[in-house]
Amino acid sequence: MFGFGEKNIGIDLGTANTIVYVEGKGIVLREPSVVAKSTKSGEVIAVGAEARAMIGRTPASIQAVRPMKDGVIADYDTTVAMMKYFIQKALGHSSGKPYVMVCVPTGITAVEKRAVIDATRVAGARDAYVIEEPFAAAIGAGLPVMDPTGSMVVDIGGGTTDVATISLGGIVSSRSVRMAGDKLNESIAQYVRQKYNLLIGERTSEQLKIDIGSASADAAKEIKAVPVRGRDLVTGLPTTVEISGTDVNKAINESVMAIIATIKETLEETSPEIAADVIDHGIVLTGGGALLRNITDVIAEATQVPVSIASDPLDCVAIGTGESLKSINVMKKKQ
Ligand code: ADP
Ligand code: MG
Repeated sequence: MFGFGEKNIGIDLGTANTIVYVEGKGIVLREPSVVAKSTKSGEVIAVGAEARAMIGRTPASIQAVRPMKDGVIADYDTTVAMMKYFIQKALGHSSGKPYVMVCVPTGITAVEKRAVIDATRVAGARDAYVIEEPFAAAIGAGLPVMDPTGSMVVDIGGGTTDVATISLGGIVSSRSVRMAGDKLNESIAQYVRQKYNLLIGERTSEQLKIDIGSASADAAKEIKAVPVRGRDLVTGLPTTVEISGTDVNKAINESVMAIIATIKETLEETSPEIAADVIDHGIVLTGGGALLRNITDVIAEATQVPVSIASDPLDCVAIGTGESLKSINVMKKKQ
């Protein structure tokens, strides 16, 4: 499309994970959105999985940074360094700068959107275009986004949960709340601190969520407790405490309720036609948060609408962003 040897890529620049899609190849890279830097010189020491392993374990001379927060760029220079590394890793030694499609959350400001486009160019793109994240998620989930029928997609990521109804190639209504995976992790750490006087890190609370977390209080009762290591707040010493499925459910319940409230509000403001379509086809969940146990059940119960999880929920946005590269020429005219 753009001449010989040029590669176009799609990037899902997520708060938790960055995924790169290369046209003609598909997804070539999935890495945590983390950068380890020298605190003194600011020099990048590691990016992605390697940097993530350093979170909570860095000496004073190294800092592990998550440059994206709540779906937007929180640390511009670090984001550029991270994207540059990922683009080079994804393309290998092939020559020529790529055209890059990056997804952005709905409802971000023009300044925030500009920052994403600029960062992508500085990171090595010949040119950069953006696509709205829930739209990309819906394409990646295989929903009939171009048809005159309403679909609802709920993307539960690290920083934000994005809810959108889509019809005829566009977003009809959408909401974005800063309530997603990171918030669940924080709530778990806070609960464990208050109930057991145990201090646990971000990665331990995330592991608890993945291992024994459930959105349903009833289902949580059936989950086996696990030993968790951390630091005792009273003695200051390392210690082990048994944490149950009910503990984790209680910790995350309020955040899960807030996500459900957002879905309900979005449903309430859709037209009767689209609401009817959504009842027919159900709500489709994408993003890592879709993998939380029983999340489909609690959403279905609260909304009285069938709910399903997209296949490969963590990859949907990247796949949709990649597929939309086909329309990059059309987007070019729009921007
Ligand atoms: P983003 O697009 O914001 O980078 P992702 O869609 O990649 O986010 O999802 C990352 C989030 O999904 C993290 O908060 C992670 O803890 C969460 N997650 C991943 N797997 C699971 C799981 N099995 N259960 C619950 N949450 C999960
Ligand atoms: Mg995402």
